This record gives sequence, C-alpha cells and structure tokens, in this order.
Amino acid sequence: MRDLLSRDLSRLPDLLEQARASALEFLTALPERPAGVRPEPSSPLGLPDAGLGAEDALALFRRRYEAGLSGSAGPRYLGFVTGGTTPAALVGDWLVSAYDQNLSNSGDSLATSVEHEALGLLRSLFGLSEDFEGAFVSGATAANLVSLATARQWALERLGHDVSEEGLWGLPRVAVLGGAPHASVLKALSILGMGRRAVQAVPCLPGRPVMDPKALEAQLVALGGAPVIVIASAGEVNTGDFDDLEAVGQVCRRHGAWLHVDGAFGLFAACSPAHAHLLRGLAYADSVAADGHKWLNVPYDSGFVFTRHLAQQERVFRAVAAYLGQGPDLLHRTPENSRRFRALPAWMTLMAYGRDGHRALVERGCALARGMGEGLAASPHYALLAPVTLNIVCFALRSGDASRRDRLLGALQADGRVQCTPTQYADRPGLRAAFSNWRTGEADLPVILAALGAAALRV
Ligand SMILES: *Cc1c(COP(=O)(O)O)cnc(C)c1O
Repeated sequence: MRDLLSRDLSRLPDLLEQARASALEFLTALPERPAGVRPEPSSPLGLPDAGLGAEDALALFRRRYEAGLSGSAGPRYLGFVTGGTTPAALVGDWLVSAYDQNLSNSGDSLATSVEHEALGLLRSLFGLSEDFEGAFVSGATAANLVSLATARQWALERLGHDVSEEGLWGLPRVAVLGGAPHASVLKALSILGMGRRAVQAVPCLPGRPVMDPKALEAQLVALGGAPVIVIASAGEVNTGDFDDLEAVGQVCRRHGAWLHVDGAFGLFAACSPAHAHLLRGLAYADSVAADGHKWLNVPYDSGFVFTRHLAQQERVFRAVAAYLGQGPDLLHRTPENSRRFRALPAWMTLMAYGRDGHRALVERGCALARGMGEGLAASPHYALLAPVTLNIVCFALRSGDASRRDRLLGALQADGRVQCTPTQYADRPGLRAAFSNWRTGEADLPVILAALGAAALRV
C-alpha cells in the first residue's frame, strides 16, 4: 500500500492529466450521450488484496462502467429536476477535493468564511433579508429536514418543552398542515419521529396543487392557537406551481404559525424579474429550503437552508465537546459535523456568472418549458396536464393508460435523445419534463419534440 501510494504520489501530475482527459472526453461527448440508459448490472467486484494503483483503477472503472453512465449532466435530460454543472462550478468542485478542507469549525482555515460569503451571495440572489441565516447541506431533502427539525423545536418550546433535550417522549403532537408537500418533507417528518401521517391535508385550489388560503385559515382557527407548522411549496414538483405565499404568509402570521417554504428549484424564480412575483410573500417564511444541484447548476450534492430562528436551529443541531471549540461554527446548524467545502462550487459559479448570468440561465429554462408546452399542446399525441408556470412541463398522451405511458418512456429511453420521468397528476398517468440545465438551448427544443413525437407513434 505504502509503495503504491508513493508511486502514485510521484505520478500525480500524470494521474491528474488522465483525470482531466477522461472528464473532457466525457463532457465533449455529453450532448450525444444517451440522456438516460438502462444498464445491465454487472456482478460486483470483490476487494483486491493487492491494490491496482490509481491508473489501473481508473482504467478499470472506465472500462466497466463509463458506457453505463447517463447523460444526466447533458442538455436533454429532463427527468426529475436535474441541473448540470457550469464550468466554474466544475472547477470549484475539483478543487474542493484537492483542498479537502473540513468546514465543521472555523479557526484553522479561511474556508468557513468563504461559506458565509457564499451564503450571503445566495441570500442576495434570492432577495432574502439578512434575518435569514443560512447553511449548506447535501440537498433540499436535508434542507427540509433541518427546517422541520427547527420548526419542531420552536413549536414544542412554545408549549414549554425543549425537545432537543427531552426527546418527544410523552410530548403533545404538533400539527403540520400542507397542500401537496414533496415526498422529502414526509421523509423528514418520518426521521423526526413526527410521522408521515402528521400532515393534515389543506384543501387545494380547484385544479391546482396549492393550498386554498381560506381553508388553511379555517384549519388554523380550529386548532385554537396551538403551535402549527405550515408547509408551502414554491415550485410544486409535478407542475412547478406556487402556493400564494403572500396570502398563506399573512394567514400564518395572523395565527402565529411557522411557515416553511420548500423552494428546492422554485426559489430560483427570484432570479427572473418576469417570475419573481411567484415568490411574493416569501419574507413571511420562517424557514426556506432549496437545492444547489438543480437550478444553480453546481454538482451533486448541494443544497441550502435559510431560517429566521438560528437559536432554535442551533439548539437542535449543536454538538458540544471540549475539543470542538465553543465558536458559533456552522457544524451547529446542520446534521453533519465534518462537512465538505461544498460552498466553493456555489461561490465559483456565482462569481463567474453573477446575477445576470444566473438570471439568463433561469429565464432560458422557463422559455424552453413554455416552448415545449406550446409544442405539445399543438401535437396530435399529447396534452398538457397543467399550465407551464416555471420550468416544468406536466403532460400526458392524449389516449392510452399507464402501461402505454410506460411503453412510451421505454421507447424514449431507447431512442436516447430525451429523458423524462413518469408521474400521476390530476388522476392521470402523466410525464414530466424539467428544464434546469445551463446547457439546454433553443436548438434542443425541436429535437425534444421530434423524439417525443416519434416515440408516441411507436407505442
Ligand atoms: C428535488 C426536490 C426536493 C428534494 O431535493 P433533493 O435534492 O432530492 O434532496 C424537495 N422538494 C422539491 C420541491 C424538490 O423538487
């Protein structure tokens, strides 16, 4: 081992050159790589006694697996909500591994200041006031978890309990209200011991996956002043639709409820003057969750959480030990102690492209979604299931059941030009396409529509 490590160290320039060449080869072919692949799983390798050294390990990896990697970083992967990686973010991310800083504590590196600075840049990008204290996490799931853990702490403190010390044993239930919360919100409630079933459904506005503020108010009145957590969507995952944060926020304010806003991708509407109105009322939020690896176009795994209740947040997440120091370190804000320098790719892309660059990126995604929606509405094969609000197109085949939809997805994947994901919306088996990659451009739209048209004729 020692010998192999010394040999690899002496060959580091060559190894990094090989990594650079591999990355460049992959990225150059990305627009032509199949958007999604359904790989044949190979039988797993065992642990070698004698290692291979880095060069042979890289060659083995590439030989066995590279062809089976998806083009999810490319321009026509429209599944889930999938961002790419801007050149500046990629450069930053490479250096994160080279620098290998631990962001848990300040005091021995300036890296933590870069994280604070990056959080300030994001706050400015989203138009959040300085009351919102941020933290980097691994994605919006973790951001929702941090938000709801903080909300739970707040709610039980109002009833005279410190759940971070006492646990939930014997404590009263906390009411959670929401319209169409994302699956990761339910996951967070499961992790927190509150349970997925804790969510009491608020009736939605007709034909939309967003809360009826009047119905929310009636439920809050019925709860008689008990502390309540309300979960709103800024960008519902099927349709991109937004809760009316102004109306919902005023209702929450009147009844003293905690407002959590899941803005995994929708928070980026703030970048576009034409869409920023969708976030009107965001200032009422007590906590906000968002993703970096979606519309910011930094690599996985990156998300951020902003709350206006740092004291409660730190009561939940603090890790006190003599050796960890007593400073106001970021480790007291999130589940992890040791943390990757994931602020750097975000800092790099924000500095490299600025407010204008990220505005253009968001506006392009919205324009492409609108264009795709118009193309589908005019096609003999497809119909929209919801209006295009932001960057998501929710649509269905005009005829056929879920099995035809599934065959369509298979045909689309075999074709390779476009990847979409299935969904169920408005009681219909549907499809989703989300535009969040900086690489996707005008020229992709006819390719996307042609691939969808051809696939529909095949099933
Ligand atoms: C993607 C998404 C999440 C979860 O984010 P991850 O990045 O997968 O952790 C939560 N909420 C919404 C609305 C999302 O779109």
